[in-house]
Amino acid sequence: MVTRTFLAHPEAVYAIPPRLDDGAAHVTGLSCPDCGGVLKVETEGRDAVLVFECRIGHTFDVPELLAGKEERLEEHLWAANTLLEELAELLTDLTQENGHGEPTAAIRAFRERAGRAKGNAAALRVVIRESRPVDLAPADPGKSAWGDPRAGGVAPGAGPTDP
Ligand SMILES: [Zn+2]
Repeated sequence: MVTRTFLAHPEAVYAIPPRLDDGAAHVTGLSCPDCGGVLKVETEGRDAVLVFECRIGHTFDVPELLAGKEERLEEHLWAANTLLEELAELLTDLTQENGHGEPTAAIRAFRERAGRAKGNAAALRVVIRESRPVDLAPADPGKSAWGDPRAGGVAPGAGPTDP
């Protein structure tokens, strides 16, 4: 038996912790897109550029992290789509008519699940088709570093430090 302990007032989990201006690295609520490890974040330089790093040393700036997350998302969506389509085809093949009377309850359940999996796969293809990553090309080509907007550093060409 597994016993779980719950804190009376659990700390909020942030993707990016609210205050990063102490010069230290802070644990995020994000995982590394390359290895799945926990990411820490710190700010660097006058523009408070956000730098993320996992335990084994994969490092990312904001555009790299966003691109990595988008790639993983697309891979996982396609993997789920493939699983659903294969499941539907397998269940369908297992329930092919053999000419021996009424389908059993198991066959009916297989067919019902195959139909749902097929519908889910079609819905997922719509999600994949409509998924659009943010355009990460900087509006100002001379400014390429992404800072923490909460500390005055901003995305290139998109914030308060721009004229
Ligand atoms: Zn990593």
